[in-house]
Amino acid sequence: MDPSYDESTEAYRQSIKQFLATNLPRSWQGLQALAPDQRGPFAERWRALLAEHRLLAPSWPAEYGGGGLSLIEQVIVHEEFTKVGAPTGVPTDVLSINMLGPTIILCGTPEQKQHYLPRILSGEDRWCQGYSEPDAGSDLAGLKTRAELDGDEWVINGQKIWTSHTHLANWIFVLCRTDQSATKHKGISFLLCPLDQPGIDVRPIVNAAGSHEFNEVFFTDARTAAANIIGEPNEGWRITNQLLAYERGGDSTTIPLVVQAIVDRVIETAREHGRLADPVVRQRLTLLQARASTLHASGLRTLTNALSGQPLGAESSLSKIHWTELYQDATIAAIELCGADAAAHLSAATHVPLPPDAMGTTAAVEWVNHLLCARPASIYSGSNEIQRNIIGERVLGLPREPQGRV
Ligand SMILES: Cc1cc2nc3c(=O)[nH]c(=O)nc-3n(C[C@H](O)[C@H](O)[C@H](O)COP(=O)(O)OP(=O)(O)OC[C@H]3O[C@@H](n4cnc5c(N)ncnc54)[C@H](O)[C@@H]3O)c2cc1C
Repeated sequence: MDPSYDESTEAYRQSIKQFLATNLPRSWQGLQALAPDQRGPFAERWRALLAEHRLLAPSWPAEYGGGGLSLIEQVIVHEEFTKVGAPTGVPTDVLSINMLGPTIILCGTPEQKQHYLPRILSGEDRWCQGYSEPDAGSDLAGLKTRAELDGDEWVINGQKIWTSHTHLANWIFVLCRTDQSATKHKGISFLLCPLDQPGIDVRPIVNAAGSHEFNEVFFTDARTAAANIIGEPNEGWRITNQLLAYERGGDSTTIPLVVQAIVDRVIETAREHGRLADPVVRQRLTLLQARASTLHASGLRTLTNALSGQPLGAESSLSKIHWTELYQDATIAAIELCGADAAAHLSAATHVPLPPDAMGTTAAVEWVNHLLCARPASIYSGSNEIQRNIIGERVLGLPREPQGRV
């Protein structure tokens, strides 16, 4: 593993630093530091600027309006944006640009690429992900939402749940059972469906932190054009897995930067509370720092492997377990250091949803927000138990889990 980047890469880094220094407001402290009513408008203006400079979709080929950047250049962009807490888009862009866009580029028809990709970049189309159902989360292939062809339209009936940002989106990519007689993983199709229609009912779910991020989506004879399918009918499982790989990978060196910044703030919190000399606290902080350093080293190893052409394998599962559990343990340590200050905020009414990369302070209220936002991190994108199963079966060669009822 070579932990250094070469000279031309460092020159590219300077150009990104320059872009950020020129365009971010002076004394920028991150989106969360803006007044709540200014965050949305700023994010939209910033998104338009990124699109203009081809930094909104750095990994997409230039012919589709992307940055056409090499892998190492993408890493540099993400690292520099993360260091200063600059947004890389609006919340739906994680689904539209990082997940659906690359899937359309790889598996879509020329017409689909021409139609959907520019509309994603312009912000005209904003996507959400309709995978999970009340009885199909970890066991995703057990999904029951069904679609049938009626002339030149698919008719969709069923329910999705935990769909993030649906209230900010106008389209949903939705997994549907299109062949009832096929075995579980077969007979699933990957459909694209407009949300604004009478057959779709979106109901908010308020999470434990008191904020509205995800939803239930009910389909009752919802309709979408027959052509709105990625891949062939009944081959949606292949497309699903392709998209999940985009969801779980690709942040091998930026996540460690985010988590390191959080660990740094835990250490600062200990200093502010006069606890740095406490041997038990020191031991705990040392362990957090050691885990953050290990995460960084394994991220660099993943990047080195990717640069030499190796596909992302179980590293994404390892990284997911490692960073989410470190994020949770770091926030718990900070809360305990804040003591009664934090307890006062735990019962306070409203919490703001904080992404882990929010630039932050060491204030107790902010740690309470982080504590609540860290909990779901070990559930979304496939729970950590499922990631451990993947490692057990695909890396360690342990026997596969029994399938079905035992
Ligand atoms: C913040 C957040 C945002 C989300 N956004 C979206 C979204 O936009 N779109 C979407 O489709 N979904 C979304 N999800 C849903 C997410 O993908 C599921 O919650 C996740 O896959 C787990 O499924 P489940 O909740 O049904 O739990 P279950 O699958 O019922 O699992 C319950 C528990 O049992 C464990 N478990 C289950 N099976 C096994 C097994 N075989 N071995 C060991 N342990 C097992 C799980 O790890 C978990 O602890 C989101 C979830 C969260 C928390």
